[in-house]
Amino acid sequence: MIRHVLGISGGKDSAALAIYMKEKYPDFQIDYYNSDTGCELEETEQLINRLESVLGTITRIIAAQGSPEPTPFHHFLKSSGGYLPSPQARWCTQKMKLVEFEKYVGDEPTISYVGIRGDEEREGYVSTKPNVQAIFPFRRNIWSMDVINKVLHNDNIAQLEEIYRSVCPQNLLEKAIEAIQKPLTKYFYYSKKLNALLDLDVKIFNQAVFKYLKTTDYPVGKLDSFPLVDNDEVLGINEIYKILEESGVGVPAYYKEIEFEVDGKKGKYSRSRSGCYFCFFQQKIEWIWLYEQHPDLFQKSMEFEKDGYTWNQGESLADLIKPERIRQIKLDAIKRQELKAKKQSNSLLVDMFADDSDVLCANCFI
Ligand code: SF4
Repeated sequence: MIRHVLGISGGKDSAALAIYMKEKYPDFQIDYYNSDTGCELEETEQLINRLESVLGTITRIIAAQGSPEPTPFHHFLKSSGGYLPSPQARWCTQKMKLVEFEKYVGDEPTISYVGIRGDEEREGYVSTKPNVQAIFPFRRNIWSMDVINKVLHNDNIAQLEEIYRSVCPQNLLEKAIEAIQKPLTKYFYYSKKLNALLDLDVKIFNQAVFKYLKTTDYPVGKLDSFPLVDNDEVLGINEIYKILEESGVGVPAYYKEIEFEVDGKKGKYSRSRSGCYFCFFQQKIEWIWLYEQHPDLFQKSMEFEKDGYTWNQGESLADLIKPERIRQIKLDAIKRQELKAKKQSNSLLVDMFADDSDVLCANCFI
């Protein structure tokens, strides 16, 4: 028996994926879960409740249950001696999410569906447990990097060629074999080989990977059939919003942009992701949003800053909300927004000013 699970983070992408999977693959018995840190925004909780009316039960996974501390985060903060997590020491995800997730799935072969969008440039969580396989239904390449590395490995050329000969139509075969036989080098690396095969035909590539997985211990390989191999849809941000609006679930309220004014100039701010209200991945302008829109949560975030530990390197939250600093952060945000507006009409700039609103909290989708 193969288990299917899908983590609801409280953000838009995993919410849209859950609705998409339920509509598109109603025969899959998917277990939905949420890793609850006890430090989420109220809007996240509201979204999860609305989703439950569409999906059915969403299991809340809560770390350190039974501890006397008010939240799992307080519990682990205490046991780490008050040492706040940071991008370099990210114990929060590890202790509150990854460990609990791996306990939740146990040892059963499990497929975990992950809502990384087709227009994102990032890899998702790859389980350290061999019985858990991640699948990315919104992307053109639905497979995780560990699977791709095995399928396209130079040692696997002969096997992949044989598989393609059994699944690929004649009119594409010659080109496919040419790409397969070309060994990986530092100039022809994994993503190039992958894209060469995907460009030829996504569904054929997926069928070949599925057939390859049947020779391995991966959970997908244990299925008789896997309908996602015949799905070549790629979903980006616009499709995500559409799914959420059409389902009636709507977009989490914290994404809604709010206008602000500074020195006679207008800008907008919102929060760009779900997760803990004090998440150290948030941008400075998001901290200001928290300060002005949820002053109680900002105050709580400040209370965590003790003994020289701060959420942002080199700047405490008390310094961040000094009037002159707020003014500067808002002016910087306006400048970035103006650049962003310009870059939408100038594709060359796109590469020069990569959008940093998606700076990673990558594993926190689980
Ligand atoms: S949302 Fe941020 S603070 Fe919370 S667990 Fe994830 S990385 Fe850590």
